[in-house]
Amino acid sequence: MFEKHCRVCGIEVKKETEVKRFGKHFCNDEHANQFGAKIAEDERREEEYQKWHPRRDGCC
Ligand SMILES: [Zn+2]
Repeated sequence: MFEKHCRVCGIEVKKETEVKRFGKHFCNDEHANQFGAKIAEDERREEEYQKWHPRRDGCC
């Protein structure tokens, strides 16, 4: 049984119209892109966080 849901809007994704990206399923290209932008944003934020909170591995 094919039952996948779009990671952006939560709508049920039809096998014929499925867009698969980042190992996730989306109802259309637009939502796949939206999710990609969100990932990039999260990564950017994580980078920013690491800049201000550097890991102090192996020091002291
Ligand atoms: Zn969607």
